[in-house]
Amino acid sequence: MAKTALITGSSRGIGAAIALRLAKDGYNIALNDISEASFENNTILEDCRAFGVEAEYYIADVSKYADCEVMVKAVKARFGTIDALVNNAGITRDGLLARMPEEQYDLVIAVNQKSVFNMIKLVGGGVMLRQKSGRIVNLASVAGLYGNPGQINYSASKAAIIGMTKTAAKELGSRGITVNAVAPGFIHTPMTDKLTEEQKAAMLGQIAMKRYGEVSEISGVVSFLLSDDASYVTGQTIEISGGIMM
Ligand code: NAP
Repeated sequence: MAKTALITGSSRGIGAAIALRLAKDGYNIALNDISEASFENNTILEDCRAFGVEAEYYIADVSKYADCEVMVKAVKARFGTIDALVNNAGITRDGLLARMPEEQYDLVIAVNQKSVFNMIKLVGGGVMLRQKSGRIVNLASVAGLYGNPGQINYSASKAAIIGMTKTAAKELGSRGITVNAVAPGFIHTPMTDKLTEEQKAAMLGQIAMKRYGEVSEISGVVSFLLSDDASYVTGQTIEISGGIMM
């Protein structure tokens, strides 16, 4: 039976690239995004199915536990198992610490960090525990490892994900479930298109490889972490940044 992968925030950007790569790897695909509109003007669902696998999309705000509960139940009912979970959904709401409104901090923590709790609890601590198998990859960021001016909320959420990855790996490891994270640097997506030219030039200066990353360079590492080749890798955060800090 084909394995099933659930990827949050996967209508575009890195999440869509991961979904396509996992479809190519032979997984049935459960896509997710916050609104129906996210799937209206793209072909991601058909593109996944073109690999000969089954694919559906599920609308859920992953910052809300109740939404996640409904989605996980629906995916389990549709596909029978959830073998791989990729916690990819994330947002930025940048601003300097001194001027950041409390709501802006809370929103980023809810979408980026609480969502990981919701999904790891329901899928890792629920479906996968019962299956006694599963693979989870969380999207962290170099901002969570090294900090980044203007991203107090985002870097807090991403640093938390690295700690959550280790804790979940320790709790779930004896049941055959691995939990890892990837920490991308600067990757070409709609999220980074929003940065100013000045911010982009400053980032480039710090990158050893002197270029930005492509989404396929994230999805390849995620595919590896979900594969049998990574069966003894857990609790790790792999930086995919072209060499920002070494
Ligand atoms: P993106 O292009 O903005 O895509 C993020 C996706 O998540 C969007 O489809 C978005 O939907 C969805 N989403 C947002 N809030 C959601 C919610 N509450 N529930 C469900 N889905 C939600 O971002 P990306 O660049 O591909 O980033 C993907 C992940 O990689 C994020 O966790 C990000 O922090 C991380 N990352 C990215 C970079 C980079 O350079 N791009 C670097 C480091 C880490 P809407 O469009 O409808 O809002």
